[in-house]
Amino acid sequence: PPPGAPDIEIARAARMEPILGLAERRLGLAPEALVPHGHFKAKLSLDHISGMKDRPNGKLVLVTAITPTPAGEGKTTTSVGLTDGLNVIGVNAMVCLREPSLGPCFGMKGGAAGGGRAQVVPMEDINLHFNGDFHAITSAHSLLAALLDNHLQWGNELDIDPRRITWRRVVDMNDRALRNITIGLGGPAHGIPRESGFDITVASEIMAILCLATDLHDLQRRLGDIIVARTRAKEPITARDLGADGAMAVLLKDALAPNLVQTIEHNPAFIHGGPFANIAHGCNSVMATQSALKLADVVVTEAGFGADLGAQKFIDIKCRQSGLRPDAVVLVATVRALKMQGGVAKEDLGTPDVEALERGAVNIRRHIQNLKKYGISPVVAINHFIKDSQEEIDALKRICGEMGVACALSKHWAEGGEGARELAEAVKAVLDGGSPQVELLYPCEMPLGEKIETIAKEIYRAEEVVIVSSAARDLKEYEKLGYGNLPICIAKTQYSFSTDATKQGAPEGHTVEVREVRLSAGAGFVVAICGDIMVMPGLPRKPAAFEIGLDSSGQIVGLA
Ligand code: ADP
Ligand code: MG
Repeated sequence: PPPGAPDIEIARAARMEPILGLAERRLGLAPEALVPHGHFKAKLSLDHISGMKDRPNGKLVLVTAITPTPAGEGKTTTSVGLTDGLNVIGVNAMVCLREPSLGPCFGMKGGAAGGGRAQVVPMEDINLHFNGDFHAITSAHSLLAALLDNHLQWGNELDIDPRRITWRRVVDMNDRALRNITIGLGGPAHGIPRESGFDITVASEIMAILCLATDLHDLQRRLGDIIVARTRAKEPITARDLGADGAMAVLLKDALAPNLVQTIEHNPAFIHGGPFANIAHGCNSVMATQSALKLADVVVTEAGFGADLGAQKFIDIKCRQSGLRPDAVVLVATVRALKMQGGVAKEDLGTPDVEALERGAVNIRRHIQNLKKYGISPVVAINHFIKDSQEEIDALKRICGEMGVACALSKHWAEGGEGARELAEAVKAVLDGGSPQVELLYPCEMPLGEKIETIAKEIYRAEEVVIVSSAARDLKEYEKLGYGNLPICIAKTQYSFSTDATKQGAPEGHTVEVREVRLSAGAGFVVAICGDIMVMPGLPRKPAAFEIGLDSSGQIVGLA
């Protein structure tokens, strides 16, 4: 395909290597270690994973980004390109990514398997049903919901207050009409009437649990810890109280195994788990990342949204819980996004404007300063877009130089791994130089309210943090119940350091208001909600679904 061809054409033109062969050749995995799903996808068996426990770990590279434009700045694309680039320069590297959600593929966002010449394949499968993990999560979530309503039906022995049920239902589809519903109508034989609603599957706490669990045992323990409701005396009711955890674990046992696929340059990729990056932590599974570290010398992984959210949660939630630590961090920046941070309208981002880029550079400077608070000096990856001018690229390189961080121009989108050589060399140099002493932002023992304040002040640079009284009361209750040591997962806009999406650059003097908190006891974090958070997206007037179909030979067309 010519440069700039649609992603699906580039992906389909790639000649995939049979997955069992690739696993053996590249990862030394015997066929028995894998459960194949067709010719080009396989799950790594849980038995094999537990057998690798004592092997040494490779090095972990986190890919994060500056504050994004609505189109995304290319973290996934850069993660894939960097992996291919590392392999080009002789480093045995693999990539770990999140599984895309099916629903949004038919809405506005499109797929999430990279782009251009930096993609993972088979992209159609990865973007749609893949190996059924999300369907399993939907089923496990539905089972718990059904057991809960069944408990009410058969006498409500636990004295659950139907008005205090927090466990909703999920489906992997953008369907706003399901956000708020009434269930149990139709009389005594048909359940207890109550209000409920649907979230999208990736917003399920079970998704976050699957991504943080370290083995089947830990998975079942976390499932049992999920709090679904309160009693009339306001005591929490868990999935374990309802007897649901064992059956839920059964439904999820295969989904816990990481999915192996390949980049279009035949490098191994685990694509596993995809929790929301607002009400959850936004990283692929611990199982996949840890397994990859046993199999490759360098593992590249991505965390959702800009570094204020993605890297913060990656370190303070995923790393804190799992013991993982990044050995290097890549901060993806684009000339376009910096111009947008400098006040340029979306339609004009293709026009060269060094002054706007320099105005917007306050944004990347702050992300770099924030990462330094964790003890990390990032490598800035300039994800090259065709319309970027040389003057703009030079200005961005100069800005990075002034900040004392490494910087590389990367053309993986247009040229694949060969185009990411400069970036791969820069990352390799950092890895060869030894690992940073990564510091968590706050200790577990800090009270929950203070943790929220620490993130808001240190990372978002808020002047003031207001926790509305009902949320403050809930935090006190969580502490009384013994959850005070959990980390915080903040849900806020990804388009600004502040909670106001329109405040660009590096806002200061703002107030962060926490209007609600939620306890994800199974996932192991407390969610603090700042602003409006969408857990069930809708479809736009002209959904992408209108373009998607099958051609005369049965091939998918229109999937972006
Ligand atoms: P993120 O992971 O940060 O959300 P993605 O890597 O998914 O971003 O990229 C978002 C979109 O931008 C994708 O459609 C991708 O194909 C496109 N894209 C990324 N990098 C480039 C580039 N250098 N040139 C053109 N399009 C790009
Ligand atoms: Mg992405």
